[in-house]
Amino acid sequence: QPAIVIRNLDKWYGNYHVLRNVDLFVKPRERIVICGPSGSGKSTLIRCVNHLEEHQRGEIIVNGTALNESLKNIDTIRRDVGMVFQHFNLFPHLSVLENCALPQILSRRTRRKDAEERAMQFLERVRIPDQARKFPGQLSGGQQQRVAIARALCMAPKVMLFDEPTSALDPEMVKEVLDTMVSLAEEGMTMIVVTHEMGFARRVANRVVFMDQGMIVESNVPDAFFDAP
Ligand code: ADP
Ligand code: ADP
Repeated sequence: QPAIVIRNLDKWYGNYHVLRNVDLFVKPRERIVICGPSGSGKSTLIRCVNHLEEHQRGEIIVNGTALNESLKNIDTIRRDVGMVFQHFNLFPHLSVLENCALPQILSRRTRRKDAEERAMQFLERVRIPDQARKFPGQLSGGQQQRVAIARALCMAPKVMLFDEPTSALDPEMVKEVLDTMVSLAEEGMTMIVVTHEMGFARRVANRVVFMDQGMIVESNVPDAFFDAP
């Protein structure tokens, strides 16, 4: 069963046709990098996958689950799909540990003690266990983004979506976040990554998808992209 099927997807913002007949199939353990000019619809496309954005035509199936009319299974889909944003989107008034524990408590009904234990496991996994009691504002951008990754992983997602995860970071912090993503990829996580980091794409992607004006204009193995004349 494919991890994600996107078929004949169309989306408009008002009159603006932002996604045009987009098809994308993602197999389990596959890693897709989406690149393309600013405004080409990359972010909108991945936001449609967990229904942060609504599409108007076509279908999206995540692990065999399609969103039905009543939106009944939207929670199932969002639980299966972890998302990491450009600007971290952490709760500023919660500690790092609470940021990772709260979503588990709220949407998986995990007991607080278990949620915090699991949060610590994943903070260790992204190598910032010593920051657990701090608040996001006390961390570097790179550390905050690793908290965001840990928070998503705590929910045991089947797929991870990354929307320009390093674009808001100072250059010296990009590597620590990319390294975390590389190790996730090596563990077999299914990923869709919107990024301008072509070194990362070359190293990690099974397939690079190039978008322009709301369309997928090319989809190929990384080597075909980077060795082209
Ligand atoms: P990318 O991620 O490739 O930079 P986006 O998906 O963010 O592109 O945006 C694609 C286009 O849709 C841009 O022209 C952007 O201004 C527009 N857009 C994005 N979000 C909205 C919105 N909520 N309402 C109207 N237009 C939007
Ligand atoms: P990011 O830089 O994190 O991708 P953006 O600054 O592109 O975020 O967009 C922030 C929010 O504004 C998003 O929810 C996006 O959908 C919305 N947005 C982006 N472009 C437009 C637009 N032209 N009109 C209305 N909303 C927009």
